[in-house]
Amino acid sequence: MSSILIFCRDCGKQVPSSETRDGLCLDCRVRRSVADLRSEHARLWRKRERYRSQNANVQQIGRQIARVEDRMGQRIKEMVSNDRQATDLLRRELEAARGQRYTIKGV
Ligand SMILES: [Zn+2]
Repeated sequence: MSSILIFCRDCGKQVPSSETRDGLCLDCRVRRSVADLRSEHARLWRKRERYRSQNANVQQIGRQIARVEDRMGQRIKEMVSNDRQATDLLRRELEAARGQRYTIKGV
């Protein structure tokens, strides 16, 4: 099986055609597949910060955030058969999701 290199049409990275679907590399497919969960995560995260600043109970929101993170993990596992790769991708998505609050905060 020969594999040619193609450019991902989203991030422009060069990847083996065997790793692409619809012209997208795995990274971009993962990012797209969890995009809705990412915004849900960001919404809950901001809510928790708001509650916390009012000294309100944030336990329930914490559980909701954990559930969203679980769902992100499940989706990524469905796309990525390699366990270690799936874990790496999830960690990166979570870091990005948790970091998102800094760019949204103060708007
Ligand atoms: Zn890409």
